[in-house]
This record gives sequence, structure tokens and C-alpha cells, in this order.
Amino acid sequence: MRKPKIRELGEAVRSIFSKPYTTRFPRVPHVPFERFRGKPQFNSEKCVGCGACAIVCPAGAIKLEDSIDGNKAVRRLTHYAGICIFCGQCEANCIADKLGIKLTKEFDIAYFKQGEDTHSVEHELILCQGCGRVIGAKKHLIWTIRKIGHLSFAQGILLNINQQILQISSEIPDEKIKGPLNRTHIFKIICPQCRRESFLIDENIKD
Ligand code: SF4
Ligand code: SF4
Repeated sequence: MRKPKIRELGEAVRSIFSKPYTTRFPRVPHVPFERFRGKPQFNSEKCVGCGACAIVCPAGAIKLEDSIDGNKAVRRLTHYAGICIFCGQCEANCIADKLGIKLTKEFDIAYFKQGEDTHSVEHELILCQGCGRVIGAKKHLIWTIRKIGHLSFAQGILLNINQQILQISSEIPDEKIKGPLNRTHIFKIICPQCRRESFLIDENIKD
């Protein structure tokens, strides 16, 4: 056996009387450093349901689902912590001033059951009164109106929602348009496809 060097012996003696380099976790809770990137968390107050975070997420850890059940149309955004790589792109690209989803300092995210690693936010959806397809989350459309100001009066869907905000009309109508589309329907909440068709049908360009 090789004899220990004097320097190594000195280090061994010093280590007996000095503090350990490792932490005492889990007996002593770990405090993450300032810019630690832990589990992202939705803020249901701030999130407007645009879905940008789901689009930019490189790991596919945010799922966007639109569901229509009778008169109830809902957008659900779900975060899967088990898939997340904590890159921070969702927060960096959040249109709600980076407040709709934020990375927390939560690092201890081991779960025993499938599904425990998820959390969601839900938003009311606005549907086209012509064909019933999804136009967008109501909160997102209101966010857009506030962002572009008076320019929103030039867009049919936003104009309708504006009237509700200004209390000119009582509520956003959700009944479907009966019969074929015509030019008067451009003042309803209709998607760009139905808007185009309402003009074409009225001009007898399309049957
Ligand atoms: S931190 Fe990155 S991987 Fe995790 S949800 Fe956000 S964008 Fe996706
Ligand atoms: S507001 Fe932010 S958190 Fe909410 S859906 Fe849009 S990007 Fe995601």
C-alpha cells in the first residue's frame, strides 16, 4: 500500500474539523438560488388563453384542448411537469407580460400517481355563429381590444365584443345563425371564412 502524502493527510485532518461541503437536504430544506428554473405554474388571473406557450414549448409539455359540449365551449391548457425540461420559453413568450405562466422555485416534483404532475387553466371560448368553429378565448379577444385600442372597431368580431364591454349590447350572442349567410351577418360574430362567404353569397358569386 502506498503511504499517504503529507498534503493528503493534512486535508483529511482539516476535513474532520471543518463544515461539510454537501447540504443536509432533506433534513434541512434546500433554498434554490435566485434565478432557479423550477416547475412552471399557470396564473389563472393573468393568463388570457392565447395558447402561445403551448406553441413555443419545445418539449410539448403544455397541451391545449378546445372542447364544445352543448352551449359550453372551453379551452383548457394543461402543464405536464413530467415532460417539462424547465427551459423557460413558456414564460419568456407569454403575451400577458410574462405573467400567465411563471417558473417557480419548486424542484421537488416526484409523484406517485400518473396525472399528479399536471395542472390546468380553463377559458371560455367564443364560437362562430355561422359554422360553430372556434374563434378564440374570450379573454384573449378582450386582451387584443385593449392592446390595439380604437383599431379594434374596424374588425367585426372585436367590434361586437367591444359593444359588450361598452355595454352597448347586453351580452355576446351565442345563438347560431339560422338560414344561409348574407351581408347583414357581418355584424354577427362570425369567423373569417363565414365573413367571406356572407359577401360572396350576397353578391351571388357563390351558391
Ligand atoms: S419550461 Fe420549457 S419545457 Fe417546460 S413548459 Fe415551459 S416551455 Fe415547455
Ligand atoms: S397568456 Fe401566457 S400562459 Fe396564458 S395561454 Fe397565453 S402564453 Fe400561455
